[in-house]
Amino acid sequence: MKQILTIVVVVFTVVSLIAITFTLNQVNQESTRLENDIQYRSSLLADGLKESVEPNFINKSDAYLQTLVKRYANRQRIAGLAIVDNTGNIVAVSSSLPKELSQPQQIATDVMDSDKADGDFVTFNGKKLYVYAQPLHDKKSVVGALLVVQNAQYIDGRLLEIWTNNALRIIIQALLLSVAILLILRWIISKPIQKLVESLQSTRLNSNNHNNQTFTQNPLFNPLLKEVAHMQQSLIQARIAASEEAKASLEKLDSPWTAERLKHFVKDLIKNRQIVVVSNREPYIHIKNGNKITYYFPASGVVTATDLLMQSTGGIWIANGSGEEDKAVVDSNDHVQVPPDDPKYTLRRVWLTEEETHGYYEGFSNECLWPLTHSAHVRPTFRKEDWEQYRQVNEKFAEVVLSEIKNLKKPIILVQDFHLALVPSIIKKTRPDATIGMFWHEPWVSAETFSIFPWKKEFLDGMLGADLLGFHTQLHCNNFIGTVGHELESLIDYEQYSVTRDGHTTAIKPFPVSIAFSNGNHQAITEDEREKQEKILKDLNIHTKYIALGVERLDYIKGILERLKALEILLRNNPSLREKLTFIQIAAPTKKNVKKYREFDAEVAKEVNRINNLYQTRNWKPIVLLKKTYAHEELIQFYKLADVLLVTSLHDGMNLVAKEFVAARDDEKGVLVLSQFAGASHELKDALIINPYNADTTAEAIFTALQMSEFEQIKRMKKMRTAVKNYNIYRWSAEFLKTLVSLG
Ligand code: UDP
Repeated sequence: MKQILTIVVVVFTVVSLIAITFTLNQVNQESTRLENDIQYRSSLLADGLKESVEPNFINKSDAYLQTLVKRYANRQRIAGLAIVDNTGNIVAVSSSLPKELSQPQQIATDVMDSDKADGDFVTFNGKKLYVYAQPLHDKKSVVGALLVVQNAQYIDGRLLEIWTNNALRIIIQALLLSVAILLILRWIISKPIQKLVESLQSTRLNSNNHNNQTFTQNPLFNPLLKEVAHMQQSLIQARIAASEEAKASLEKLDSPWTAERLKHFVKDLIKNRQIVVVSNREPYIHIKNGNKITYYFPASGVVTATDLLMQSTGGIWIANGSGEEDKAVVDSNDHVQVPPDDPKYTLRRVWLTEEETHGYYEGFSNECLWPLTHSAHVRPTFRKEDWEQYRQVNEKFAEVVLSEIKNLKKPIILVQDFHLALVPSIIKKTRPDATIGMFWHEPWVSAETFSIFPWKKEFLDGMLGADLLGFHTQLHCNNFIGTVGHELESLIDYEQYSVTRDGHTTAIKPFPVSIAFSNGNHQAITEDEREKQEKILKDLNIHTKYIALGVERLDYIKGILERLKALEILLRNNPSLREKLTFIQIAAPTKKNVKKYREFDAEVAKEVNRINNLYQTRNWKPIVLLKKTYAHEELIQFYKLADVLLVTSLHDGMNLVAKEFVAARDDEKGVLVLSQFAGASHELKDALIINPYNADTTAEAIFTALQMSEFEQIKRMKKMRTAVKNYNIYRWSAEFLKTLVSLG
């Protein structure tokens, strides 16, 4: 609409400018014509009067001249007549003119001097007049002058009339033309385009209502519409083929999984049941950018994986609304459709008070559960008030889930992560028909380590409300079963890997979370990508032969300090690498409200400075620390330009970054150095597996990676890519859901 208005305004302005130019021309012509006419009439009158005045002018009495003037002055449009002698004095003047005529007298003097008749326009008493002067002769010498003064006011009147008439015509013409253009644009261009967009949207959204007949009758768009119709047909056919192929392979879990296949699989699996996800972190966070509301996708493995599932299946995702503009975009039910640019499912936001966030999230989740479930030798903080807040907030989330599912039959609830461990049992008590799956994205520590947890029994009972509990690895499942055996009275079935307590059975199974990677064909780096990578390096002032990379949230479990130590040893032991190797550390800021994280942030910065000061030269810095959250598309270019990716987690549930690096390497080059304590090390066995606590062997592994032949790199990378492709996020979701649905 804005564009159409712009076009109308432009047309209106151009038409008006053209009409104004023509009017100006017309006014000029009319003005010249009227001036010539008044001059001509004045000269005729002057000539007539002259014949009576001139002979023997000197001897004619003033009274005689006055009578003549009076007689001639009675003509139409004549404002007055006057006779001037050669000294410039008025000797006769009609009554309509005053005795003092300075301007006409001046014209008479000029005319006598030049001995040539002439005229000019003057304004007198606010009136426009035309003064014509004719020299009077006696024999050859000039003895005086005749003045004819005409009323010229009507000339301005006439010109004004032209302007008024034309202005009215301009406005009417421009208005009619604008309306015509508006109608043409709306009916002939805008409407068909709108219909085309709707038709393409319905094809994209897989609706059966493809309505392109309307515009095949529009000759203007025929070539374009024909092409679009062909494309739509091809897309529909491809979709049918994919759908049939997907249906045919539903049972074969190990054949390649795609978003399309998952969609069909889930539809077939859950029939009319609905999926409800509940997590602390929301997938889309609305914020302010200048005067506009925008959004971002948080850097988190949990969110990345679950969003892909929800985009394929639809449903409701319940999460904490943490963005400053989150409240501004929800409806009266606290719902917002997401992804905001292409909605596929509903996000229901739960609002927490500052006190709740402080106790449940910062205190209990981040200072107690996080260090408790990761063996990174950071002591958990157990505060009773945080635990109370945690219980309260879990109840709040569970109430929201119960209200959202009140009209749903046998809903499928997916509880994500350690923030909501008590939610499964609260829901199960009220809605035993709900099938509840909980995925634990963290590692699970041994029974002994967990036994220090003061509220362990209630916590485990909360989790055991789920029908299925998923962990990344078999080791985490073993640790969980061991913990339950240690802490609760229950029946453990080691054959089925399940726990039965108070008559309810929970299955415990490993599902290694993954990423969206389904096309693992080899592909060289394109020119465009190379340019992007060169720009990144140029902007960071990096010119070295080798690039090592680290990508993570600035979290102590990621082993960043241990990695820096290994790099120091590497540079100390291999002086030849100095000025040849740069280590880029992307450290996305995280949990800034937790003291331990602020201390860790400062410690990393200090260590980077120390090592840089030790080895840097005028043109080279060994470590480039980038404390910023990068978008996925940006990270891909970093992954592609690195010779080696360092994942040195002290303990990590999965570590999706390792998988993302492998997926990004379409050129099948690059080496992954991977901690044995990251879940990913169970699948990516062709990485160089290290113990991050041993800085010497990590340094050696980095050295080996940098020296590795292309042949060896490709051999390893191919195998890792096959592993990620075979167990991608779609398969993870399918296996988890299939197992869950089989339980309830
Ligand atoms: N990530 C990101 N921008 C960054 C850093 C990380 O989007 O600047 C993403 C990264 O691509 C990955 C996720 O954050 O998808 C981190 O997941 P991972 O399992 O490696 O670690 P977590 O943060 O869940 O402990």
